[in-house]
Amino acid sequence: MHRESIYKRYTPALNPPEDDNDPSYWFIFHSDNLMVEVENNLVKIPFTSDFSQLNVSLLRKVYMGTVDGFSCYCGELDPETAPEKMVFRDLRSLYSDLDEDIFLLAGRAIQVVNWDRTHQFCGRCGTPTVTKDDEMAKICPECGFISFTRLSPAVITAIVKDGKLLMAKHSRIPGDMYGLIAGFVEAGETLKEAVQREIMEEVGLKVKNIEYFGSQPWPFPNSLMVGFTAEYESGNIQVDGNEITDAHWFTADELPRIPSKMSIAGELIEWYLDNHSK
Ligand SMILES: [Zn+2]
Repeated sequence: MHRESIYKRYTPALNPPEDDNDPSYWFIFHSDNLMVEVENNLVKIPFTSDFSQLNVSLLRKVYMGTVDGFSCYCGELDPETAPEKMVFRDLRSLYSDLDEDIFLLAGRAIQVVNWDRTHQFCGRCGTPTVTKDDEMAKICPECGFISFTRLSPAVITAIVKDGKLLMAKHSRIPGDMYGLIAGFVEAGETLKEAVQREIMEEVGLKVKNIEYFGSQPWPFPNSLMVGFTAEYESGNIQVDGNEITDAHWFTADELPRIPSKMSIAGELIEWYLDNHSK
């Protein structure tokens, strides 16, 4: 699978330069929507040396490093202010409008902004935290408790039996869309154990030959999706009726409506089609 690297043009750093008069990139969010400039159907991340010119006020900002050598900040907008010439767009809707590496960076930005907002106070003793200057973390000056950006790993698996792909209907996804079996990793599990447990819980099947496929940050809100392929071993499909309401084996030419290629689910299905189409 091909995916642009977040580090193609981006260099992470924690401490802003002292005299930074060059323009900077601003990844500014309000209610999980990204502020972008739209000109002649081109969508751009605001790029300015003087943020006050945008006539908006920020609640908080975090330095993220540089893009093409220019400083890059993320932050959250004061809800009272409305920017001129800017629009707020749901991040997912911007996938095809931004360069992929910039979209990935926006995915990092939204997670940093949300983490910054929800870790202003120590989770152990309630003291206001301070941002560390040597790693992406906040520390409590009172008790020393450290909070890193929150990531929730999840596994997603393409299960194949006799050349057919298992597709399941998830109760939380409306309409007739089918997807793959996926779920969050639980404490104490390896990734492969999470794959086995989720598949047993949701459709009652045992699988074998579990192979790592790839991973994808999924910042809605803070997952790291880890993709696998697996072969059916034993059991009959028994949906849990709760998360999964229907599941079937589909051949390559009878697949139901499936997720977009933007997601790792879409890439896994493409892998299946590449290997099992006649
Ligand atoms: Zn504390």
